[in-house]
Amino acid sequence: MLKFLGAKKKFLSLATSAILGGAIWLGTPAITEANAAVNIIGIFVQGAAIKNQVNQEIKYFNETNEGRQKLYQTFRKERGVDESYEYNSRLDAIMTNLTNGVAKVDKTINDRPYMYFVAADDTLNAACGMGHVMFVNRGLFKSLSTEDEIAAVIGHEMGHGQSNHAAKSVDKQINKQITAGLLNVALGSDVLTSAVTAIALNHTDAHKDKKFETQADLLSIDYLMNTTYNPGATAAVMQKFVEMSIGAERSGLDVLFNPSDHPDSERRRDACAKKLTKLSGNHVTIKDGVVSINKKTFLTPAATSSMSSAERSYFVMGNLVRAYHNKQDKYDATVENGTVMLGNQAIITPVAGDEDAQTIADRLNALK
Ligand SMILES: [Zn+2]
Repeated sequence: MLKFLGAKKKFLSLATSAILGGAIWLGTPAITEANAAVNIIGIFVQGAAIKNQVNQEIKYFNETNEGRQKLYQTFRKERGVDESYEYNSRLDAIMTNLTNGVAKVDKTINDRPYMYFVAADDTLNAACGMGHVMFVNRGLFKSLSTEDEIAAVIGHEMGHGQSNHAAKSVDKQINKQITAGLLNVALGSDVLTSAVTAIALNHTDAHKDKKFETQADLLSIDYLMNTTYNPGATAAVMQKFVEMSIGAERSGLDVLFNPSDHPDSERRRDACAKKLTKLSGNHVTIKDGVVSINKKTFLTPAATSSMSSAERSYFVMGNLVRAYHNKQDKYDATVENGTVMLGNQAIITPVAGDEDAQTIADRLNALK
């Protein structure tokens, strides 16, 4: 890799100095315009040369086994690794389920399976870098009370991965540095390599792009729909972020999902809800924690010790979405062992503070 870049660099330096040298040679006040034009060409050629090198670097980390392995090892060293059996076995199980779910909508995952680890970090964070190299902080397992929500966050990361967001983000930042004149061929290929590596390791950058974020959220729902996890979990996590950022400004959240301002988490939650409504064939909607069926109020679930009423409402919504999506609405709602069912789909298991299961089932039959 370096050898290849070295050779390329020498050639490009010669080409560049030929043009810039020409400019100096021409440098008299009488031909200022020509001089400027040559300089612009020089800058352009320089930029193209660096771009070319950078593209090779990105390809190396993003696509080659050697590059991906290098990134994986560097991530592990940088973040620290949590080797605990509990978190690692849970992550393995979630990755297996999600990988199967992703494969149902995006076969390319089979060409580049994810490389992942549990990072020894208690903050609620996860990230997917280039080459499908991913880490999940143990803080995610500590902060989220359900496996569905953990899967939703990891699904979001895989959404970034499948959409190649990390490479696009690195490319964008390198372009900015080239335009600003911070990177040029004269720096040499080693310096360029470390510049790209440094940006590549700044894995959280993909989370800063609002368009990327929403795209990854919506993909997460697609993936969850193809597993047994609750597809409402992505919206539920967003609701949790809204509550966390209102309750404790940025506490423990910092960079993940960019939840520093809660209007942004609200916007993303609502985008998820909109997608869920669509997946239900427009039968299920949600507003201010109230779940409605066919535009009529269905219920507002009670809060539990680990979840607010609003957060839980997205789980109820997710179950209804799956029921409608799988055409279970043609069957009656029933109560089985304390759980309200619609066909074969569990909808809600009432807890203290909820209405009783039969009342909910009766209403569901009236509304569906
Ligand atoms: Zn993200």
